[in-house]
Amino acid sequence: MNDEPDDRTSFADLGLRPELLRALTGLGYEEPTPIQREAIPPLTEGRDLLGQAATGTGKTAAFALPVLERLAGGGERSSRAPFALVLVPTRELAVQVSEAVHRYGRELGARVLPIYGGQPIGRQLRVLEQGVDVVVATPGRAVDHLSRGTLKLENLKVVVLDEADEMLDMGFAEDLDTILNETPETRQTVLFSATMPGRIDRLARQHLKDPVRIAIGREEAEPGEAPRVRQSAYVVPRAHKPAALGRVLDVEAPTAAIVFCRTRDEVDQLTETLNGRGYRAESLHGGISQEQRDRVMTRLRNGTADLLVATDVAARGLDIEQLTHVVNYNVPSAPESYVHRIGRIGRAGREGVAITLAEPREHGMLKTIERVTKQRIHMEKVPTIADLRARKLELTRAALHESLLEDDLEHFRVVVETLTDEFDVMEVALAAVKLAHEASGAASDEEEIPEYVPRAGAGERRGREAGGDRREPRKPRKPSAGMTRLFVGAGRSSGIRPQDLVGAIAGEARLNGREIGAIEIADRFSLVEVPEASAQQVIASLRGATIKGRKVTVRRERDDPR
Ligand code: AMP
Repeated sequence: MNDEPDDRTSFADLGLRPELLRALTGLGYEEPTPIQREAIPPLTEGRDLLGQAATGTGKTAAFALPVLERLAGGGERSSRAPFALVLVPTRELAVQVSEAVHRYGRELGARVLPIYGGQPIGRQLRVLEQGVDVVVATPGRAVDHLSRGTLKLENLKVVVLDEADEMLDMGFAEDLDTILNETPETRQTVLFSATMPGRIDRLARQHLKDPVRIAIGREEAEPGEAPRVRQSAYVVPRAHKPAALGRVLDVEAPTAAIVFCRTRDEVDQLTETLNGRGYRAESLHGGISQEQRDRVMTRLRNGTADLLVATDVAARGLDIEQLTHVVNYNVPSAPESYVHRIGRIGRAGREGVAITLAEPREHGMLKTIERVTKQRIHMEKVPTIADLRARKLELTRAALHESLLEDDLEHFRVVVETLTDEFDVMEVALAAVKLAHEASGAASDEEEIPEYVPRAGAGERRGREAGGDRREPRKPRKPSAGMTRLFVGAGRSSGIRPQDLVGAIAGEARLNGREIGAIEIADRFSLVEVPEASAQQVIASLRGATIKGRKVTVRRERDDPR
């Protein structure tokens, strides 16, 4: 379970034709997900299939690719009547699935049509009339078309029931029976469902013939197999993921992190976004040459890069000693993949942090991972603009405090004095703080990221989502209990990284790395939390020491009375 499957099956090994393989390469897919590996061969042979898989596992491609393979293969295509019908619970899913089928089947010239309620029926009628290969429909609208005689199922070769549990939850059981009864006995039937309650079993017994059964996350890990790391997840709509990741990284300040993405394009785009936000990110995927790969690894090892953005394939076999954080930019396609990824951190007693960003629809997959690994994944809230502002103000305050203690301020006195003829001293101070704050680049305004609140009701999987919103309180900006924050007079502009501080404190003050708390690095200074009981010892032992070749001021932060 700790190791990834040994068989490195490629899409070509699954027997897909070149047109489909090119489409997948074009989309930046590097290898099949576990469910695709298991489902594609039997489905291409025409077997029925009962699959337990949630959103995020790659189930759409698992049924869409065999449909397209068979469509292109057997001369079974009719000019008018649909070859395949995919039934889905919601209009959003209808659009999403039909877009996916269209993207995979573009070179094959596959004609795809989503039909769902709420859309004018006239357009659907015209396209159906011209001929369609794959119809992706919500059950209600499919029944409408059947009763009007505008959807003809007599040539149908494949029926897919996607998210079948959800369709039953939404009261579509009768519609499903009506539709399935209109289809030829000889059809292939595929049923995917995130859960397998008795009602799904009954549906399968009634409509599937000797199905192949596959499940993602059925096996449970042996307790203790997964490494002990702090595991958190953030549920964020897709459009806000880059910003959310930026904020989470700001708060976490990883020494070195690997950010896993699904596809090559996603790796490239995210690397660009993160570099644009001031991180030093490098990308690694299957399209990158060995030479480049070596360069990237050198940069990561010597600390000139702190983030590695990678696909699973490219990250295989990498061992990065200083890795502190693993970030799943999407929910991994199977619990095994999650376990394997986070196995890179938390080794040999070192601490590690695993962070997962999930889209609202992928919430169910997080629960599966928790169940399989028997470990809690803490649901956290993405830092808000207010959190970020407060944090940035805190850094400005600390910078001013430093300046008050250290700098020679006398020759600015004339400025303040002339201004106080006209303004109150407090007002002058406020304006000066504003300028200092803005000059530190701290004034950037960001778009608010909506908070995700799981709903019970239509479209949500009730039982499984229940209790899923156990939010942990945000990290306090005050030092944690029993900890004291120290001010270190060197920051990013002197090339200080968290590991330098940990190294110096651990080396000079003989503190265990684990005892050191949150570290924040600003441009000209850093703040480090150490246990109150060791604070004096740390200050004393760093007094004569150098960090990155420089002597630096180290003292308690604020005018700490202690
Ligand atoms: P699904 O579980 O079908 O909703 O798919 C989740 C996401 O994974 C979609 O954005 C797909 O485009 C993507 N995806 C599916 N299969 C693969 C693959 N083999 N490699 C990379 N991404 C994939």
